[in-house]
Amino acid sequence: MRLKGFIFDLDGTIVETDYDWSRIKNEIGTGGQPILNYINQLSPVERQQKYQLLEQYEKKATDQARLKKGIKSFLEFLRQKKVKIALVTNNSWANTEIILRKFNLSFDRVLTRESGLWKPSGLPIKSIIDYFQLKSQECAVVGDSLFDVQAAREAGVNHIFILTEEAGRFSGYPVKVFPSIPALQDFVRREYFQPS
Ligand SMILES: [Mg+2]
Repeated sequence: MRLKGFIFDLDGTIVETDYDWSRIKNEIGTGGQPILNYINQLSPVERQQKYQLLEQYEKKATDQARLKKGIKSFLEFLRQKKVKIALVTNNSWANTEIILRKFNLSFDRVLTRESGLWKPSGLPIKSIIDYFQLKSQECAVVGDSLFDVQAAREAGVNHIFILTEEAGRFSGYPVKVFPSIPALQDFVRREYFQPS
């Protein structure tokens, strides 16, 4: 079966970024909730304060972001195969745009948190699949975190590819784990795009 859509996460997937999420969550005081869920249920004044704090960390990480090895060639490969490619990130549009411009990347569709849809909900993934007029089974999600896994599953996506050097973190989840983008590309080519 050929895959027709690939939905990528940004941070840790397209680019390497340095986020100390436990420190950030601690400082914001999320009490174990996903950050965006927590912030968005606060009063307007508090919400603005917490967003400012989050944005300081995000800006710093964005400025230091490095393109992941092999990602350009993988995106080019998918384009050649006429696969739709999308980016879904919980990051802001401002930071996403900086990264897209800096590394000269383009996607058929980009969703940031300003859409009001964010992971771990499956809604942003589902929104992309509907936009492309594809079925969940025809799409793959590529990410690096449990949020990506939860969002993909909630959207009915079974092809979940995780980039990580800590495969153990994902044992027990219905995902395929890869140490690098070239390794993922080899697998995708072999498994889904063999000449018939
Ligand atoms: Mg990520």
